[in-house]
Amino acid sequence: MTTETPTKNGDAPTATHPKTIGYVHLGCPKNLVDTETMLGKLGSAGHHIVGDESQADVVLVNTCSFIDSAQQESVQNLVRLAEDGKKVIITGCLSQKYQSELLDLIPEAHAVVGTGDLDKIVEVVNRVDRGERVISVTQDPTYLLTDDSERMHVTMGSYVYLKIAEGCDYRCSFCIIPSMRGDFRSRSLSSIVDSARRLAEQGVPEVILVGQDTTSWGKDLADGHRLPDLLRALNDIESLQWIRFMYAYPNLVSDDLLTAMAECDKVVNYLDCPLQHMHPDTLKRMRRPVMDHVAFAQRVRQAVPNVKLRTGLIVGFPGETEAEFEFLLDAVERIRFDRLGVFEYSDVAGAHSQSLENKVDAQEISRRRHAVMTAQHRIASQLNQAMMGQTIDVVVESVDPATGRLTGRSQWDAPEIDNLVIVQLNEGQSALPGQIVPVTVTTTGPYDLYGQLA
Ligand code: SF4
Repeated sequence: MTTETPTKNGDAPTATHPKTIGYVHLGCPKNLVDTETMLGKLGSAGHHIVGDESQADVVLVNTCSFIDSAQQESVQNLVRLAEDGKKVIITGCLSQKYQSELLDLIPEAHAVVGTGDLDKIVEVVNRVDRGERVISVTQDPTYLLTDDSERMHVTMGSYVYLKIAEGCDYRCSFCIIPSMRGDFRSRSLSSIVDSARRLAEQGVPEVILVGQDTTSWGKDLADGHRLPDLLRALNDIESLQWIRFMYAYPNLVSDDLLTAMAECDKVVNYLDCPLQHMHPDTLKRMRRPVMDHVAFAQRVRQAVPNVKLRTGLIVGFPGETEAEFEFLLDAVERIRFDRLGVFEYSDVAGAHSQSLENKVDAQEISRRRHAVMTAQHRIASQLNQAMMGQTIDVVVESVDPATGRLTGRSQWDAPEIDNLVIVQLNEGQSALPGQIVPVTVTTTGPYDLYGQLA
């Protein structure tokens, strides 16, 4: 019989037989933090983590099931790895939702681990090693990352995501995340600040605060701290350079929060606030807050100088009439968002919106998305033209040694979803990933900027 050996600093299990473990990460930054947390625990337990899954004995697939296409991508990856003869451990949202179905669908899968069971991953790998087929899924998960000192950062370079809360108390009608992630719970201020300080001391210039609902942070903590207090505490970390938070819930963007953004020099002038729609009737069907979005955007722009506003919208939600869509398009024209993503509505199994009547035809949904993106293309081009000749700070993401082409981001751009700044380095010029360099903008496109080192 094998047992898990306690470590010197606690009762965390260690590997009974160290394995080479690969990973496939799917989904959003919040899920990436979970991937990195599990890899960190496995690495600390004595396993060898590899980036190339073809080299691995065991592959951890952290799945996403936010929309149907994400579910399909997750399943395709699982089938491919199983066919390659890998020992597959399925984790993440899909596991939480379809635990036993997954084991039936993919007989080669060795374990299914839910979103509330990340801390059991080492034990699960040990049980798989003993030949067991494991389901470790806690219903109504309450797991909360409280210390990410073990986390293995696969993104470390110019930024690291820090999860500040887990779960969500809202019940947007198109979303099943609360059923997979549980109700909202916050990490403590000291735990987040400790993590951020450690990362900054390792040379990470930017921390990005994520959670299903970052603006609710602190509401469940006894000490009364809220997001503005957290931003101020992080702003005091000397070696940190940029602080960004994502996924603000619109009616929680308080004056106090905007004041903290304006006052804290390290908090980037960037607000990501997914509005999903702007017509009151569509919002009611979405179970989202109804508000005056034009006034909201004005309030944000007045309170935070030089701020850039990002939003995400869903078109073709069930019952979205032509008039509701035109209202949305008109609001996009009036607000002139600096950054905008548009999603085409699709049914998600288990979401309330799946049962709503008056579904919009798929072709019409695509037409509506195209109409918003065409408007946004023009707006973004005009806004970018105003950047010509300005010298801006750019964090270096990568430099191609063969071509001298530097790729970076401004403070107004979140990684993976926003724009890039491209610089052609001249002879004798150099820059390193993670460094923040001044760039003068010489050419603008609809989305990306081009320039030279100032
Ligand atoms: S705020 Fe709405 S969309 Fe976001 S996680 Fe919560 S329920 Fe889902």
